[in-house]
Amino acid sequence: MNAPDHDIASTAARRSATVAALHAVLPPHCILSGEEDTRPYECDGLTAYRQLPLAVALPENEAQVAAVLRACGTLRVPIVPRGAGTGLSGGATPVAEGIVLSTARLNRIVAVDATARTATVQPGVRNAAISEAAAGHGLYYAPDPSSQIACTIGGNIAENSGGVHCLKYGLTLHNVLRVRMVDADGHIVELGSCAPDAAGLDLLAVFIGSEGMLGVVTEATVKLVPKPPQARVIMASFDSVVQGADAVASVISAGIIPAGLEMMDRTSVRMVEPFVRAGYDTEAAAILLCESDGLPEEVDDEIARMGAVLARSGATAIAVSRDEAERLRFWSGRKNAFPAAGRISPDYYCMDGTIPRRRLAGVLTGIDALALEYGLRCANVFHAGDGNLHPLILFDANVPGEFARAERFGEAILALCVAAGGTVTGEHGVGVEKLDAMCGQFTVEEIAAFIAVKQAFDPARQLNPDKAIPTLDRCAQYGRRKVDAGLFQFARAPSACYAQEQERS
Ligand SMILES: Cc1cc2nc3c(=O)[nH]c(=O)nc-3n(C[C@H](O)[C@H](O)[C@H](O)COP(=O)(O)OP(=O)(O)OC[C@H]3O[C@@H](n4cnc5c(N)ncnc54)[C@H](O)[C@@H]3O)c2cc1C
Repeated sequence: MNAPDHDIASTAARRSATVAALHAVLPPHCILSGEEDTRPYECDGLTAYRQLPLAVALPENEAQVAAVLRACGTLRVPIVPRGAGTGLSGGATPVAEGIVLSTARLNRIVAVDATARTATVQPGVRNAAISEAAAGHGLYYAPDPSSQIACTIGGNIAENSGGVHCLKYGLTLHNVLRVRMVDADGHIVELGSCAPDAAGLDLLAVFIGSEGMLGVVTEATVKLVPKPPQARVIMASFDSVVQGADAVASVISAGIIPAGLEMMDRTSVRMVEPFVRAGYDTEAAAILLCESDGLPEEVDDEIARMGAVLARSGATAIAVSRDEAERLRFWSGRKNAFPAAGRISPDYYCMDGTIPRRRLAGVLTGIDALALEYGLRCANVFHAGDGNLHPLILFDANVPGEFARAERFGEAILALCVAAGGTVTGEHGVGVEKLDAMCGQFTVEEIAAFIAVKQAFDPARQLNPDKAIPTLDRCAQYGRRKVDAGLFQFARAPSACYAQEQERS
């Protein structure tokens, strides 16, 4: 349906006022406003949600970021910060009548301090570029999302990103010392410090994972760790997903924290093996990849202990990488799993939920049952050691109704995670995708507390509004949807909220 003429006219007027305000604070080459220029910014990795922004600002320094925020604040134009746009939950999807603020030109490595083992970088620096810059000092940045060749540190901070090596080395939260950001009013604020601890409230911890809603990162100081002299990986096959999942819990309960502990089920292995030829066992129901790193003696000892646990847990085959080339080959399948999905399915929908490790077997069995119920295939490839699941729901958007079915299947998976004592996101964030799922996980009082934090940083709701935190109305509506046969099944929403909503409808 076409928009009414008055809407088109008011959007056009708003766009020209916004573009004029941006021209007052940025050089012309830092502004995109034509449809063909802004189209590439209409979505992030969650391509089902799209919205053209009024304009895109590409500031080249912190003062320009602050000026853009102030100019948009005056006009009440919302701002969506954007790194590389690899996010999978719609965090960088533009909002209607707002602009995108891209950090693509803020891509300088400010300093690598080998003595302090830190790197100070601008927000648009790619994750992998930090390790490349530190490599000459024998150091690297540990958190390694599979998207690390493209995603930026600004996006990683906003999503509290994880990766294969985060089981041992911690998430983004544990590896960022200090963030410099511009708040919604255009003020520069520093959170954290390069000292081991900072006085005052730990706002850095609040900020990391806040999905671009509290401020725009303009600089970050991250920890670097020494590159381990050796790393080797075990590839173990299992006849059932349940045995593989139980083996994960056994490795950890044996007191071992592997450098990586990942699992792939048969669907994932068979989708990736013809693509990268990693040498995976395509007959296995599941394979585990367990990495050890450190001094050669430590690695030998840990590999032997992990191998023994895996054998006791029922592994039908165990292979250990003999050299670096073989280690990288074993990992290549895991790292290319998402792109490989495109070889066997026109579309895929990547879910992200986290559960306690001991519940892995039960939840994976539950996902299999849901796949049958919804009539869609699902490939599981995930950070097993962290209990962070990534079911890839395979579907064809050209088949009427399949995307809606995939969405419902995804919702059911997240409900299963919450019921198992887990959470609706592990590392991909809430964005626009999981607003309803948030209503399912948190009480209205808890959501009200999140809203209060947002209001403290950004009372006018300038920054990435309507992302990550559902409105209380939405939660009430979600509660109403859960009413079945006259029974109120959404026990966690207070009835007052529900009653208000009933009155309104
Ligand atoms: C193939 C593939 C594999 C992936 N694997 C992983 C994985 O292993 N682990 C993982 O955690 N994620 C993974 N992701 C998801 C994604 O790469 C991460 O969420 C990443 O951190 C996003 O970074 P980005 O630069 O692309 O941010 P964007 O997608 O551009 O933005 C993400 C969020 O950050 C905000 N933001 C961006 N820059 C700033 C800034 N300077 N200041 C404030 N807010 C900002 C945006 O508003 C948005 O809310 C994967 C994605 C893909 C496509």
